[in-house]
Amino acid sequence: MPTTATRPQLSYLADQMNELKQKGTHFKLRVLEDEQAPVCTFDGKRVINLASNNYLGLTTHPKLREAALEATRKYGVGSGAVRTIAGTMKIHMELEEKIARFKNVEACVVFQSGFAANAGTVSSILGKDDFIISDELNHASIIDGARLSKAKIKVFRHKDVAHAEELLKEVAGEPGHKLVINYGVFSMDGDIGPLPGLCDIAEKYGAIMMIDDAHSSGVLGRNGRGTADHFNVHGRVDVQVGTLSKAIGALGGYVCGSKDLIDFLYHRARPFLFSTSHPPSVAATCIAAFDVLEQEPELMDKLWANTRFFKKELGLLGFNIGGISTPASETPITPIIIGDGRLTMEFSRELFNEGVFTPGIAFPTVAEGKARMRTIMTATHTQNQLTQALEVLKKVGTRMGIIK
Ligand SMILES: *Cc1c(COP(=O)(O)O)cnc(C)c1O
Repeated sequence: MPTTATRPQLSYLADQMNELKQKGTHFKLRVLEDEQAPVCTFDGKRVINLASNNYLGLTTHPKLREAALEATRKYGVGSGAVRTIAGTMKIHMELEEKIARFKNVEACVVFQSGFAANAGTVSSILGKDDFIISDELNHASIIDGARLSKAKIKVFRHKDVAHAEELLKEVAGEPGHKLVINYGVFSMDGDIGPLPGLCDIAEKYGAIMMIDDAHSSGVLGRNGRGTADHFNVHGRVDVQVGTLSKAIGALGGYVCGSKDLIDFLYHRARPFLFSTSHPPSVAATCIAAFDVLEQEPELMDKLWANTRFFKKELGLLGFNIGGISTPASETPITPIIIGDGRLTMEFSRELFNEGVFTPGIAFPTVAEGKARMRTIMTATHTQNQLTQALEVLKKVGTRMGIIK
């Protein structure tokens, strides 16, 4: 007999979940029973997986797997402390040095997640008199960091550099610091942020330039060096955040920048100071992943070839892969816009029953009325798997009246 059944003091939570059930947007977690791979087993069913952020297939790469096992044998399973007490192992420093060299910056600090990197950085480098100029579609971790910093947030229309400049102009006379922050690749629409234009206005108004490269590391730029490399704006971005949890295949986040910035974060970023560092296996895995990025560029080539093929075919089937800006998705993330939340969730369930896993995403992750399926390509999908997935999408989409 479980002892944690809901008591009256928490019944308001169940009420809210019942509301979601009525709206049709309540979900159950899908449980993966084997490896994160292009074909795998969720909830007992073999499906083609179009849902993961495992862009390069590194979650199961033999070199990464071996690195994790070797580090565990050598150094154990945990670091035993926060970085600033006794939890900085040599392997943590090696990873930071490796990333800094890869990104061609002075220094790097690794956090427990990309979320912690964003939230910890924004909340520590800004204070209540400062201003954040942010795209309306920026990630929750940036928004939470902004809220914690108590800085004032000014939101510009998606990818609208002129609007961002207007906002900067409005606060130009204020004494506080200004931070312009942008995604490299937007996670729900797959479009690329206008980094060069934002760098221009940040420089014009003396603002700090920050970029969140979660979906761009390992995907854009030479060997996956990210959007600063993609746009060749080296030296013009003060704070580059990336994740180790998506294309890199393991877990973590990092901030790249000047030595002074990184030293400041070592002293002030709260997730760094108050939460235990990565197990050595994770640090070793990530080091191996950056080696793979440099030694196996064919993985990125395959990722992009799959992306071009799948995007083109989805469009030909008549799905709305539009997104909200021009050009729409330019990356391995391709949304299929449905609009209605309930229909989106039903479409996702039907596809799953037919052997294709792609999650339905509705409010509050995306705006009301903008519900969509989100498909993600990886380097390890075979042509055969993609063709099969497209057939199922066509069949179910037609049956449900989503395409003609
Ligand atoms: C996934 C994501 C993060 C968080 O990264 P984690 O390492 O998963 O915590 C931050 N920003 C963006 C844009 C993301 O898509």
